[in-house]
Amino acid sequence: MIYTDTRDSSVKVNFRTAVLNGMNAATGGLYIPVEFPKLDKSFTDRNTDPSFRDVAFEMAKPYVKDEIPDNDLEAIISDCYPFTSQVVPIDPTTYVLELFHGPTCAFKDFGARFMARTMSYFNRGEKDNLHILVATSGDTGSAVGSAFHNVPGIDVTILYPDGKISPLQEKQLSTFTGNVRALKVKGTFDDCQALVKKAFVDKDLREKFRLSSANSINISRLLPQAFYYMYSSIVVKNRIPRDSQIKDPAIIAVCPSGNFGNLTSGLIAKEMGAPITGFVAATNANRTVPDWIATGEYNARPSIATLSNAMDVGAPSNYERIKALYTLEEVRSMFASYWTDDQGTIEGIKKCHEKTGYIIDPHGAVAWKAWNDIRGGEMEKLVKGEKGDYSKPGLTANIPAWADKVVSKEAAAIILETAHPAKFGATVVNAIGREPSMPERLEKVMSLPDNAIPMEKDYDSFKSWLVANL
Ligand SMILES: *Cc1c(COP(=O)(O)O)cnc(C)c1O
Repeated sequence: MIYTDTRDSSVKVNFRTAVLNGMNAATGGLYIPVEFPKLDKSFTDRNTDPSFRDVAFEMAKPYVKDEIPDNDLEAIISDCYPFTSQVVPIDPTTYVLELFHGPTCAFKDFGARFMARTMSYFNRGEKDNLHILVATSGDTGSAVGSAFHNVPGIDVTILYPDGKISPLQEKQLSTFTGNVRALKVKGTFDDCQALVKKAFVDKDLREKFRLSSANSINISRLLPQAFYYMYSSIVVKNRIPRDSQIKDPAIIAVCPSGNFGNLTSGLIAKEMGAPITGFVAATNANRTVPDWIATGEYNARPSIATLSNAMDVGAPSNYERIKALYTLEEVRSMFASYWTDDQGTIEGIKKCHEKTGYIIDPHGAVAWKAWNDIRGGEMEKLVKGEKGDYSKPGLTANIPAWADKVVSKEAAAIILETAHPAKFGATVVNAIGREPSMPERLEKVMSLPDNAIPMEKDYDSFKSWLVANL
């Protein structure tokens, strides 16, 4: 497969280069494959459920063709996914796609593990280690640390702001051993990011070490997230006749979004033939993308802190990919776009629990609330010409191509549940008055010793530490 660049279509690189570079430093653009090959219809139309790993293998194959032979790809995929995504029906037309069954209990495990193993694959035979530097405000660092843990030839240094993340998140970051280390920086997330950025452009360091990033813009994190859209949409398509007897259902993927990587992966799956009719782009008060869809103007802005903090992104990096692949009109026709505030998020957790018994986390709650409002009359109002005010929580005024299917009750939703509710226990208690049960792997991490290394926020201290320790 050839990969090009969102800013310069004359760029042509292979998968290896796209993975190891992360982004194109020359243009500042992001890599995208030149095409999204469709899976065979016999695969997407099948009326038995596929295995997740089979889906992963079939989907990954065209993107690594000529660079990773089939048997190596198979080994990479089984090593990536000893866990899977799970489709949980919570009412006759709503399916929660649980993406938290990986080691760190968030969907980022799907992408980070594939990235780690493909990087390691392409790094074979190099005599020097590849050093990954990653700044994190929470979830990304633990997924990346866990994904690279014990991966040969690569080590990871995680920087996080001391005292500014939750105790559980801190435990998840600071208890690694061996090739993954965490620095607790006396500063903010922005300070951590500034240190990493400076290290990458430091000639002296670059001559001494092979440095790389594990950023969410890496194409090897995006492609594997398309696997679970394909898998779940086939499973849901097969279940709908039993659960709700709808004849020709619209299947809508409702995605709680921050950097819009997850949603972009959904677009890739749809391009490849997944039976997905459309999407709901659901955000918290960081509503840069809903505002763009509403007004046609894109204005990145500083992020606002919310209860669904992994979605607190004011300048979503994958906007650039969506914009390179589709026109605004195409986006308006594929997507409903919706945002809610913290009050709406709490209400989402509470109502979802009351109506279905399912305990959803604050990120998934934004998506569930969007779907519940959409099918509860908000889409019908739009279709009838009642347009809301996009600066207030709710749907933006564009009418997606599938709107009538919602009004006629011929639509089912896949709600992407991106984190385990126990990671946000305090918010969940606040909403429903009880604690979600804690998975064993999260409980375990709470009792491990903290190995984080204290670090000042000035560049010289950071650099001397790198020179002495890499
Ligand atoms: C990262 C994250 C998101 C946002 O995903 P994007 O790909 O950045 O849109 C949503 N929920 C959780 C729990 C996350 O960790």
